[in-house]
Amino acid sequence: EKLGVALVGLGYYSTDLLAPALQITEKCYLAGIVTGTPAKAEAWKKKYNIPEKNIYNYQNFDKIADNPDIDIVYVVLPPSMHREYVVRAAKAGKHVFCEKPMAPSVADCEAMISACKSNKVKLAIGYRCQHDPNIQAFMKVAKDQKFGKVKMITSAAGYFDARTDHWKQKKALGGGVMGDMGVYALQGARLATGEEPISVIAQASTTRPEIYKEVEETMMFMLDFPSGARASCQTSYGINMNFLQVNYEKGWLKMEPASAYNGNKGSMSDGTIIDVPIKSQQAKQMDEDCLAIINNTDLIAPGEEGLRDTRVVEAIYKSVATGKSVKI
Ligand code: NAD
Repeated sequence: EKLGVALVGLGYYSTDLLAPALQITEKCYLAGIVTGTPAKAEAWKKKYNIPEKNIYNYQNFDKIADNPDIDIVYVVLPPSMHREYVVRAAKAGKHVFCEKPMAPSVADCEAMISACKSNKVKLAIGYRCQHDPNIQAFMKVAKDQKFGKVKMITSAAGYFDARTDHWKQKKALGGGVMGDMGVYALQGARLATGEEPISVIAQASTTRPEIYKEVEETMMFMLDFPSGARASCQTSYGINMNFLQVNYEKGWLKMEPASAYNGNKGSMSDGTIIDVPIKSQQAKQMDEDCLAIINNTDLIAPGEEGLRDTRVVEAIYKSVATGKSVKI
């Protein structure tokens, strides 16, 4: 029997990626929705055959506690809203999937983890890439030390965002490129070393100050890792870029793209090709997270993983504010 998932927030990612993925998942299905827009409720109800009793708005959302059709609440809202809805879902006794960035602050992440712990529900972060065998391939190179120690990483994730009035441009909603695309550049470095950075120095900039008034359009940051590895990372809402290069003591690895929805691929200095086709990252992610719930095993990317990134993101903003290197 499949677990029932309720999507909270029916914007781009829910509409274009998660709902379609939930049509091919084997361990879960789209059982319900939570939306503030009655017209969306009507359209989704028809399109996906969702019973009226599984449709909620933000006011009556907590009643989801009484609905046995819903096993998992998937929070797909702007980042500043993640904490509130994760905590409310946990209190309703539902397992939680939460989109990245987990939340704007470490304090938020800790509150979300603790709410899920005390309500005995699982909390998975939507780090789809960690479920992708192409990403797992470069994680394994670091783990096995195939080319010796990692020396230098260059990691980039960005796209040109033409929007001028969206949560990505608003500080109060958790906008700014660092938490959004920046976590892919950061994850590239963290996953390619298998280590946590110990210090960072960062610089924020924008080429469109009339649009990026409150948050950064571009962030460049350099990370130091305990082994001595260093990473130069960049992320932007103004530049299309998506790659990862890792230089080891005795070789190299390149991925491009390195954090796309599909088609992540790369090569290594010994001729190894990384190019494993997968049907849907999002379907694989949700199925694997459901299996962890069903079998009560560890999640691939639990709340703690979101917290690790948020800790670095906080340090990055501190570095921007002070102009200095910040210990993590
Ligand atoms: P979006 O703006 O398209 O959708 C956000 C939804 O939240 C909309 O339906 C909007 O109506 C709703 N909402 C409710 N209250 C709101 C409020 N006060 N202000 C603004 N919107 C409000 O955004 P999106 O691109 O779908 O992103 C949603 C989440 O998914 C974010 O956390 C984002 O980082 C994440 N995301 C993840 C991936 C991925 O690859 N894992 C890709 C895209 C987005």
